[in-house]
Amino acid sequence: MTNYCKSLTSYARRETLCAQVGGHKIGGGNPVVVQTMTNTLTTDTEASVAQIDRIAAAGGRIVRLTTPNEKDALNLGPIGEQVRAKWPDVALVADVHFLPAVAAVAATTADKVRINPGNYNDRGGRFEELIDLCRERGVALRIGVNHGSLAKKIFDLYGDTPEGMAASAMEFLRRCRELDFHNVVVSLKSSNVRVMVYAYRLLVKAMNEEGLHYPIHLGVTEAGNHVEGRVKSAVGIGALLADGIGDTIRVSLTEAPENEIPAAQALVAHYEGRNTAVEFAAVEESRFSPYEYVARPFAGAPVLWSEVAEEERGGYNVVEATSDLPVQEWRSKLLASDYPTDKPTILRRHYTTANFEQFAIEAAADCGVMFIDSLADGLDLRNDNFSQEQIDEVALLILQAARVRISRTEYIACPSCGRTLYDIETTLAAIKARTSHLVGLKIGVMGCIVNGPGEMADADYGYVGGLPDRISLYRGKTLVERNVPQAEAIDRLIELIKADGRWSEPK
Ligand code: SF4
Repeated sequence: MTNYCKSLTSYARRETLCAQVGGHKIGGGNPVVVQTMTNTLTTDTEASVAQIDRIAAAGGRIVRLTTPNEKDALNLGPIGEQVRAKWPDVALVADVHFLPAVAAVAATTADKVRINPGNYNDRGGRFEELIDLCRERGVALRIGVNHGSLAKKIFDLYGDTPEGMAASAMEFLRRCRELDFHNVVVSLKSSNVRVMVYAYRLLVKAMNEEGLHYPIHLGVTEAGNHVEGRVKSAVGIGALLADGIGDTIRVSLTEAPENEIPAAQALVAHYEGRNTAVEFAAVEESRFSPYEYVARPFAGAPVLWSEVAEEERGGYNVVEATSDLPVQEWRSKLLASDYPTDKPTILRRHYTTANFEQFAIEAAADCGVMFIDSLADGLDLRNDNFSQEQIDEVALLILQAARVRISRTEYIACPSCGRTLYDIETTLAAIKARTSHLVGLKIGVMGCIVNGPGEMADADYGYVGGLPDRISLYRGKTLVERNVPQAEAIDRLIELIKADGRWSEPK
């Protein structure tokens, strides 16, 4: 049943092949590598080189650039030359969404090429050609599936589901194996953290069943910014790293790309040096559901311990994890055959870091998965360096990311890239300032109409760059207003929410 990892109660890195990206090794037991992506125009050499310089100074060594057409792909050559004059070990990755012809050019300039099987138009068997080109120059390939942009035939078979995402990747991984090409990394990203976690677990299970061992790139798309973006990424990525899955990660934030590096490094550091010798008591696996959400037996959303009145506290089992393997320790206790299931469970964990971002990342990485797997009913985070209000903010963001308690508007904001048609960071801040008091709405804030509508997944409303200075507004997946001048777009978005009866005035 849990054939996506060796054991639910001990820690081991998943054994994988090793992909070579420039001078960097991904998988094969090597440390988890962090990476990021530029948001400049790839044809703007100067701006791209300057941004990669800031990324490298922050510690990033693998940098992806968007390559919508051949001109962009070609420009990776001169960009790489200039970057390497100062940072010889920076590897460049070309992000190809649609065109095999662009991928073919990218294979002559990049260290790695990412294709999205859902969009990659492979009529005429161009994939074989791409593999030959990659093989010639020692270029790695990422099969990068995104929730919301699955190929039609996969969508018709599976719907837009974790199963569909895993199946889409498997189709291309099998072809890599047939072609005896193994310099491959695979990813299945979603902005819905639960979908993302289930999809990766299903993928590992499918790879195990077929004897495929490609390394894995982890990421949550459109995670947003600030503490919220870091918590959402840490819940998703941490859920998998906790089980030893993941060989390279990107914490995708709607902020300057260099800010992604320390957040990713903090997450990687949290799992480094974990004890592989500890084995907690075995569990009743039939009570564990790794691939779909099963509701808790107790009514209501999870609580924060600070919300529970003193006289009611006896009505809960409080279970503290004290080891450096909190997920395994909690599982071992909560899934034991003699665990009392008559009371709701509160998870308790003490943290000592005085850095708020790091505290948020660590707590999200440890606790989020427990709620994705529906094993608890409340959270009691402790950290003497912060006020109860600050701690509760982190706890609520964790519960929101795991989608078990929605306490605020969720923003599905893309990290921006060379396609972005407006300044996402300031626009997201302006949209948040007007709408963050609403409860339970999901608003997509996406840079371009090419990928935005597909990737904002299950957002209730979408604010999407249509043309320069023009915004298209969506209700769910339906376009309701095309090319509104940007200066009016936030007002029109709010009018739309009001017209649907989902608006309330801020208190
Ligand atoms: S939605 Fe468009 S602008 Fe935003 S990151 Fe994706 S491709 Fe780039």
